[in-house]
Amino acid sequence: MALSSRRAVAPSALVAVPSLWMALAGNAPLWRALQVRGLLEAKSGWLLAATLAGMLAAGLFALLSLLAWRPALKPVLVLLLFASALAAHFMWTYGIVIDSSMAANTLQTDWREALGLLSPRLFVVVLLAAALPSWLVWRLPVAHRPWKQQALRNAAGSVGGVAVLAGLLLLSFQPLASTMRNHKDLRYLMNPFNTLYAAGQTAFGGKRIQGDLAPLGLDAHVAAPAPGSRPRLLLLVLGETGRSGNFGINDYARDTTPELARAGAATFRNAWSCGTSTAASVPCMFSNLGRAGFTARAQDSENLLDVLQHAGLAVLWIDNQAGGCKGVCDRIPTADTSRGKDPRYCAGGECHDEILLAGLDERIASLPEARRRLGVVVVMHQMGSHGPGYAQRSPPAFKRFLPECTSSHLPDCGQEELRNAYDNTIAYTDHVLGSAIGWLQRRTDYDGALLYVADHGESLGEKNLYLHGLPYALAPDVQKHVPWITWLSPSFQQRTGVTLACLRRHADAHVTHDNLFHSVLGLMQVATSAYRLSLDAYAGCGPH
Ligand SMILES: [Zn+2]
Repeated sequence: MALSSRRAVAPSALVAVPSLWMALAGNAPLWRALQVRGLLEAKSGWLLAATLAGMLAAGLFALLSLLAWRPALKPVLVLLLFASALAAHFMWTYGIVIDSSMAANTLQTDWREALGLLSPRLFVVVLLAAALPSWLVWRLPVAHRPWKQQALRNAAGSVGGVAVLAGLLLLSFQPLASTMRNHKDLRYLMNPFNTLYAAGQTAFGGKRIQGDLAPLGLDAHVAAPAPGSRPRLLLLVLGETGRSGNFGINDYARDTTPELARAGAATFRNAWSCGTSTAASVPCMFSNLGRAGFTARAQDSENLLDVLQHAGLAVLWIDNQAGGCKGVCDRIPTADTSRGKDPRYCAGGECHDEILLAGLDERIASLPEARRRLGVVVVMHQMGSHGPGYAQRSPPAFKRFLPECTSSHLPDCGQEELRNAYDNTIAYTDHVLGSAIGWLQRRTDYDGALLYVADHGESLGEKNLYLHGLPYALAPDVQKHVPWITWLSPSFQQRTGVTLACLRRHADAHVTHDNLFHSVLGLMQVATSAYRLSLDAYAGCGPH
């Protein structure tokens, strides 16, 4: 029987059923969160959940009733069904929540990164929760009224929805308010309002950041090396998704970092990130404002790399991550290795991080000589431990911990397999850093230094959380506790007085991404009014 032979339904019916469906099924992660926290144990808990479901459905009904016009209703419903199913899948699988920073991450995601999130389960969820209902919605004949009548009905539907919502709210105000106060993160799980709110905030809301870029550190300068001495060369390795606690050098039970240990690298074990995602952390790390200032900024300004360039140094950004540098390298020379074809490092559309070192001598030689004479800073942006495809991030020779998780549907893997896959990426990062140190040791024409700092950490299934990107205030420490590792060549130590032995004595010093800007300026001996000695993580081992 063809659907079209059935009697046409009223627009309000077409609004009601999907509203109920999204409120109930789309909020599976919310119901699970209530259950996990023991909020459903008492009978009143079930009542609260039912009230919440009713409120979500009524709210959705009120909103969609306003859009119940012939050209708008079906496309809006289809869009919302897909958004709600996708959000539910990712919240359920990885324990993430949907807020405006997650919306920004989604918009900045490269399609190759997105491919990493595909799984058979996602396909099934989208098919059953979005595609099938959408098909039904699309096929159903709807009896729209002449526009005046329809306007009246839409308004009545919306008012009715709001009335039900308000009634339920009044009935359950006390328990609801206290639950929401004690579990603030639950609001980020309310599907699809979380997505709508985040999208609205990203598009229109929030504080407008002024378009033009404020200059920074125009007074920056470095003294030319004395005759017979060498300029400095810093390899600043921007790590991806590094968990401080999984580095052997940070007293992890597994020796994931033998090469760093052999090289005598120094670590700050107590280092903390600015954000919980690449998009939030990277611009903040390179800013002079620190986390608080950066979050509250009214205007964007130049960053560490611009200041280094103002000082006359040669600066280069090499990117092995498809997501790019999030704007921080816009005004300096860059190279992209993530689309490389070198068969030694590249396969399946991405390249292992050793490619960052391939041809590095030539890349540096191509920078202006007058700048190179004053000093060089090369930022190497790793692919690092980017999830969920951890197993793809380490080449076969570094699979020291087996068996490892190879599914992108992380909850399918046991805790141990997941940890193995992740630790293999750290073992490989150790090799990349060890190789970078080896390269610096061969470049005797410079006083070499290496600084490795990761952008944020990662959840590996603790408390049912995976990946990263939770709002900062809610995120567990593993998403914020990052590695900060330093190696300095003997000549660098001699000339600056900053020694690895001294840094090792300060291994437990509390440092954050707020310190990065000033610490790099200090290491490169850049003098500028933008520099703060008190924020230079190496100042305790100065003088520079
Ligand atoms: Zn990242």
